Amino acid sequence: MNPLTSIPQRLVSSPCGGFSIPEEALSGPELESLQSALLREAVAFARRRSPFYRAHFSRFVDPDSPAWGLPEFRALPTTGKDDLVRLNRDFLAVDSSRVADIVATSGTTGRPIRFFLTARDIERLAENERQSFLCAGVRPGETYHLAVSLDNMFVAGLAYFSGLVRIGAAAVRQGPGNPLRHVHLLGDIRPAGIVCVPSFMLELARVSEREGIDPSSLGLQRGIFVGETIRNGDFSPNALGRRIAADWGIRLHSSYGATEICTSLTECEHGRGGHLHPTLMYAEILDERGQPLPRGEAGELVVTTFGVEAMPLVRYRTGDVSFIETGPCPCGRTTPRLGPILGRRTQMIKLKGAQIYPGQVEDCIREVPEVVNYQIEAYTGDDYADRLRVFVGAAPGSDGIVDLLREKVRAQARVTPEFVALSPDAVRERLFAGGSRKARRFVDSRRPAS
Ligand SMILES: [Zn+2]
Repeated sequence: MNPLTSIPQRLVSSPCGGFSIPEEALSGPELESLQSALLREAVAFARRRSPFYRAHFSRFVDPDSPAWGLPEFRALPTTGKDDLVRLNRDFLAVDSSRVADIVATSGTTGRPIRFFLTARDIERLAENERQSFLCAGVRPGETYHLAVSLDNMFVAGLAYFSGLVRIGAAAVRQGPGNPLRHVHLLGDIRPAGIVCVPSFMLELARVSEREGIDPSSLGLQRGIFVGETIRNGDFSPNALGRRIAADWGIRLHSSYGATEICTSLTECEHGRGGHLHPTLMYAEILDERGQPLPRGEAGELVVTTFGVEAMPLVRYRTGDVSFIETGPCPCGRTTPRLGPILGRRTQMIKLKGAQIYPGQVEDCIREVPEVVNYQIEAYTGDDYADRLRVFVGAAPGSDGIVDLLREKVRAQARVTPEFVALSPDAVRERLFAGGSRKARRFVDSRRPAS
């Protein structure tokens, strides 16, 4: 199975719609029939080659049987991060001698997961990024500044680099850190765009201004942002996105990806969610009970990868909460789009029946400049229900800030957490309690359900 070679032949008679990726112009029924065929291949491959899936799917309908279809696929059990950590090498669907790259997840949301790729998987990543970058408007001959890690077992930087090369664009592999050098390089090389973590982009603007350089004079046209959300649930830029756009005068593109799913998605110039790549993965949104949610409703993103050789995943629960948009995109592509990541499934808090993620509260807080720092805590009340408390450190003289924040969160997120005003020093102590090197902006003190 190799979708990179077999799919274009299958689609040879399909209209291209002017896009360089023919699958981006398929009609709804064409897309469904393509993905059904790919799902069948993906499940058959995983079941045949990966010891984990052979056992995991042994009691379910064989995808080679004629009756197999979407209902049989949806009956398959999901796979989680715990499975990948616990039974890591059982996922391998190739002989270990064919492994070409060993990578790891960052471990920010749990134990790091080790992940294996063959040479062809690396090629597939390059093809994925080619499609993603083309969607964002990257063109041959342009130069892009990569402010993300290319080493340390991270896979994304390598994928971005290879995708740019495949398009015929140039890359500046500066990596993270050392913001002053970034600013000098941006001024010298004047790339068309940057691939960056949004909060680092704010730091670059601060350093640039300190040097007397207006960031918007550096000539960047677009930023492709990874790792943090720059949009609200309605696709409008959040406080972080708005600040970046104001500092740099650039077009914002949000990009989503995860090491395990070997796939990333990037927004087109209209910024209405990352366009899915139909030949590289299948996305579902599931509710808490594992049932599919209608298009547009928020739930956990669950992914099946296509064309991955070493560690293919079927119905993999990413832990990220988002939604899928299927309405027309002004760019003309017909592919569904993944909305902004609203939070992590495990961080979901139920307040009087409403669901809320810490990130939604953070988006509101970040819009209030008087807030110096903050920490959000979820805990269990005496009635065993979830509660949400926000510790706010504010500049001296900002009386009434708690009332302002309460109103803002109530209006935007439709919940009312408790707010506790503290000195910025007291909040800082909470953020770095226990010698934590990273600020803990969200603390989950809830009692596990018994
Ligand atoms: Zn679009």
